[in-house]
Amino acid sequence: MDHLVREVITPGKLRDWLEYYPSQNRAIAQQLAPAIQVPAEQIFIGNGAIEVIQAILHQFVHGRIAVNLPTFSSYYEFATPGVEPVFYQLEAAQDFSLNVDDYLAWVERQQPAAVVLINPNNPSGTYLSIADVTRLIQSLRHLESIIIDESFIHFAADPDADESIPSVAKLVADHPNLVVVKSLSKDFGIAGIRAGYGVMAAERVSRLLQHGYLWNSSGLAEYFFRLYARPDFQAAYAPVRQRYRQDFAAFQTVLARIPGLQVFPSQANFVLLKLTSGLSADEFFTQLLTDHGIYVRTCRDKRGLENGEYVRVAGRTAEENTAILSAVQAVLGNHSGRGLAG
Ligand SMILES: *Cc1c(COP(=O)(O)O)cnc(C)c1O
Repeated sequence: MDHLVREVITPGKLRDWLEYYPSQNRAIAQQLAPAIQVPAEQIFIGNGAIEVIQAILHQFVHGRIAVNLPTFSSYYEFATPGVEPVFYQLEAAQDFSLNVDDYLAWVERQQPAAVVLINPNNPSGTYLSIADVTRLIQSLRHLESIIIDESFIHFAADPDADESIPSVAKLVADHPNLVVVKSLSKDFGIAGIRAGYGVMAAERVSRLLQHGYLWNSSGLAEYFFRLYARPDFQAAYAPVRQRYRQDFAAFQTVLARIPGLQVFPSQANFVLLKLTSGLSADEFFTQLLTDHGIYVRTCRDKRGLENGEYVRVAGRTAEENTAILSAVQAVLGNHSGRGLAG
């Protein structure tokens, strides 16, 4: 947003981005290719990642689609009538982490046409290492589609991937059934712009573009796509990302010490909490909002989280995290106090 204000709004250049048609899908892909380090022909630009998900589910999934629970619900809600979602439950007792061997055996039994892995997962924040994801992709070559959603990958760190982003987009070259989905909404804080992309086999991009999606982006989204690909932006973003991750790690550590909470280790920009003190997620949500002006996400409507009082809390700046921590402490402290008083 700072870049937009500095480079577009303040110098009065907004008109340049809005008066004319934006670049077409392939031209924006060309811009992004060096930054993502895959050939432009493998990039499909979406009006948000949600459009990429919709396009894949409608074009490249025939039969069952395997979805892990808890999940981002579009992956089963957008399934067309012929597609049957089958659910693999991640367990709270295992911190919602994925056991690759168990999962592969389950896939063998269920025989889905496609599998979805969100990494790090939404809403649990659990992360599967680049080595494990690679093994999974290699073991599932026979499927029609493997969808890996890396919308939160900029928040993750992998010792095997050094300081870079642990994306598996490069594997598309050797795995024509692989689709890597990426939203720019969360890590760059531009959800209203609607910018996302998918990396997939060149033939798949061609098939999608034969049927439309020519100008599915917008002038403003194009500005942000180009910004995302700029080396000067990437250089400025790297230390911000690093600091965010440190602040978020500290936030998780303190949260985990608060009585009445179970914290599931997260590599995303949010953390899933289970309330263990008897306070309901709705009460917790209401008190945080009305007494402290803090909005958290209750998870009652999330499939696979019905057996407990779960909330998802986003990490913010270090200063805001401190405010969130004291508010959470106050709400849980009040609750246990009231409990003791009968
Ligand atoms: C938010 C989200 C999306 C959708 O992102 P948009 O780019 O805003 O459409 C896709 N996948 C996951 C896992 C998300 O959390």
